[in-house]
Amino acid sequence: MFGRKSTERGFPKHEEIVLHKVMEQVEKVLRQMQTEGKDLTRVRIKRFQKTHHVSCRCQQCKSAEEKKDPRLRGLLEDGFKVYLDKTRE
Ligand SMILES: [Zn+2]
Repeated sequence: MFGRKSTERGFPKHEEIVLHKVMEQVEKVLRQMQTEGKDLTRVRIKRFQKTHHVSCRCQQCKSAEEKKDPRLRGLLEDGFKVYLDKTRE
């Protein structure tokens, strides 16, 4: 009735856009907190991606191996984390 799911193709960057928007909001909040005088010197934001296990044989991991580019491996987690750096206490 509604034809094929053409919307699923052509938007491979959709998740990237969502992450980027979230990141912008986080930055906005942090900047606001800073202007309010909050101490953010220990706050860290780190982009992080967790790829499939090295022994994984799925399509993505296989092609990553063929191209010798580990960044093309399948992803388990893709995002960022906000944390406090307590190494200099
Ligand atoms: Zn894999």
